[in-house]
Amino acid sequence: MDNLKLNTSQLDNSLNTSKKILYCNHCMADCESQEQMREHYKSEFHKYNLSRVTSNLNPLSYEDFMRKKNHCTIKYFNESLPNVC
Ligand SMILES: [Zn+2]
Repeated sequence: MDNLKLNTSQLDNSLNTSKKILYCNHCMADCESQEQMREHYKSEFHKYNLSRVTSNLNPLSYEDFMRKKNHCTIKYFNESLPNVC
């Protein structure tokens, strides 16, 4: 168990020093670049999670979002009513 702990902290350190990871708290998603992050903020996935968070709901993972999206009409998404779906 101690070994595992050591390994994860080493991994965290190397991530922090070698590459800056951008992270979206709403979607629990990380992006590799500023540009990717900007694209993410514009994405339906992010906007959907944002509206969930403001409604005090837990954000969805991307897979859950896609699954939900397939079950809902585009109309509901455009109106951003997360409670409908
Ligand atoms: Zn996001």
